[in-house]
Amino acid sequence: MSIPQVIAIDGPASSGKSTLGERLARTLGYLYLDTGVMYRAVTWVALIQLGEVHDESAVTKLAQVIRIDVRPATVSDGRKADVLVDDVDVTWEIREKIVDANVSEVSAYRGVRKEMTEQQRRIANRGKIVMVGRDIGTVVLPDADLKIYLDASVEERARRRYLEIISRGGEAELDQILSALEKRDLIDSTRALAPLKIAEDAIVIDSDPFSADEVFNEVLKLIYAHSD
Ligand code: C5P
Repeated sequence: MSIPQVIAIDGPASSGKSTLGERLARTLGYLYLDTGVMYRAVTWVALIQLGEVHDESAVTKLAQVIRIDVRPATVSDGRKADVLVDDVDVTWEIREKIVDANVSEVSAYRGVRKEMTEQQRRIANRGKIVMVGRDIGTVVLPDADLKIYLDASVEERARRRYLEIISRGGEAELDQILSALEKRDLIDSTRALAPLKIAEDAIVIDSDPFSADEVFNEVLKLIYAHSD
C-alpha cells in the first residue's frame, strides 16, 4: 500500500498546523494549502473595499469575484507560501491584527464557506496534498487518507504566537494574544456551519509537551505506518 496521498490537518488557531503541514508537504513533495489564508484574504479585501465585514451579502459577493492564489514562497522572509489576491501579494497584510479580529465573522458566512470549500476541493483534485484548516477532515475532504487534529492549550498557543511575533521584530502583548485566541476559538467551534471539531477518524495530537520537530517526526511515523 502507498503512503497517504491526501492529508488533512485541523486544529485551533496557532496549534502549529501550518508549520507541520508545510514541512510535511515539502518532505513528501506534496502540494501544501493552508486554507486559513483564503478566509483571511477575503476578510482583508472586505476591510479594504467595504471598511467592515458585517454585510454578509456584500462580503459573499467579494469572495465570489476575487482571485486568491496560494503558491510556494518566492520570498524568503519567513513566509510559508505567497498569498495573492488578484495578483497583489497580501501575504503579510492578511496577518494583521485587524484581520485576526474579523476573520471568524467572515468565515461563518454560508456563501463564503461554499465558495472557499469549492475552491479547496478543486485544488485537492490535483492529487498529493497536505491541506490545513478547521473543517478539512470533517467537511472539505471527508475521504482524506490521513486526518490529524493538532491540539494545544490556549496558553501554549498564545505563548508560541507571542514568540513568533517578537522573533519577526514585531510588538505583542501576551494577554491580548490570549484573549484574541480565546475569542476566535469560541466563534470557530460554535458556529453553525463547519465548526472546528475533531473528525471521528482523526488522530489527535496534543502538542503541548512537544517541540515542532517532535510533532513532525511523530506524524511522519504515522504516515509510514499507514502504508504498511
Ligand atoms: O488558520 P488561521 O488562524 O489562519 O485561520 C484564520 C481563520 O479562518 C480561523 O480563525 C477560522 O475562522 C477560519 N478558517 C475556517 N476554516 C478553515 C480555515 C480557517 O473557518 N478551513
